Amino acid sequence: MWILKLIDIIVPCYNEEEVLPLFIEETNKVIATIPEYDFRYIFVDDGSKDRTLEVMRELAAKFDNVKYISFSRNFGKESAMYAGLENSTGDYVIVMDADLQHPPAMFPKMIAGIEEGYDCCALYRAKQKGESKLRQLISKMFFSFQNKISDVKMPDGAVDYRIMTRQMVDSIVRLCEKQRFSKGLFCWVGYKTKWIEYQNVERTVGKTKWSFWGLFKYALDGITSFSVTPLRCIAVLGFVISALAFIWIIITLIQTLIMGIDVPGYVTTLCAVLFMGGIIEMSVGVLGEYIGRIYIEAKDRPIYIAAETNLDDENSESLQA
Ligand code: UDP
Ligand code: MG
Repeated sequence: MWILKLIDIIVPCYNEEEVLPLFIEETNKVIATIPEYDFRYIFVDDGSKDRTLEVMRELAAKFDNVKYISFSRNFGKESAMYAGLENSTGDYVIVMDADLQHPPAMFPKMIAGIEEGYDCCALYRAKQKGESKLRQLISKMFFSFQNKISDVKMPDGAVDYRIMTRQMVDSIVRLCEKQRFSKGLFCWVGYKTKWIEYQNVERTVGKTKWSFWGLFKYALDGITSFSVTPLRCIAVLGFVISALAFIWIIITLIQTLIMGIDVPGYVTTLCAVLFMGGIIEMSVGVLGEYIGRIYIEAKDRPIYIAAETNLDDENSESLQA
């Protein structure tokens, strides 16, 4: 019998009870137009507080190709994606959001990219409809900063919606760092990636899980995971300040020798002390960011803990890893 190649669709879900039935309906429509491949869903319930897990169970009962993993608590989207990738066995793997902001209609184009010989076909959004100007600006700044200071390069607006070959997925799973920044990891592993543009769609059901603070922490993760440039900046800053201080000392010494001691130096001293205090605090903060990350990695806790799954036995053995 001719066996079709399998494509696993990994969908991290956190409180997506309203969206999931819609998601599967829309995606099934697209899948029906691609008979050349078998598709399997791997939904990852990231410790949802609503009925997401029940909906997954219902979908699994209805469709043979629906698998799910449910976490013991909310571990975050990055952990959910990792769990999906680790448990996938398909020849190709698609990663996408549940909220239909990653339109399944892009599947044929993505698969075509793989068939052209690319190892990965990833998407970046053309326009960020439904996002505030401030958020768009910050996102743009983040991507250009990230690209400048680290080795991984990605286009502005790169999202976590992509298809990858088994070989690439295996390489990503081998990177078992705890504080994951997948956008960067996907680029870090290398392989030939085709970038295609898509029009961003507004979330119609449910609401975004990202707070401004959450996004800020995520951006910090991105920067610190792939670059030690901030640490170098501190060193350079220290050097520049020392050089300036040295010049200032020489000038003051000469002034003192020529004009005698000029007592009222209160403001200058205060400014110097406060300024240096600020710089030292900031430097300790940057160092702390990196040390905190070393601390978390050193504890070597699992990336996620699965409480329930309907994946095959051979697959689920590795679940508690
Ligand atoms: N998500 C998750 N765990 C979380 C937060 C989000 O698995 O802690 C999932 C969420 O269910 C969705 C995807 O990650 O499928 C993207 O989330 P969201 O739509 O809130 O992000 P945005 O599109 O606003 O970047
Ligand atoms: Mg979304």
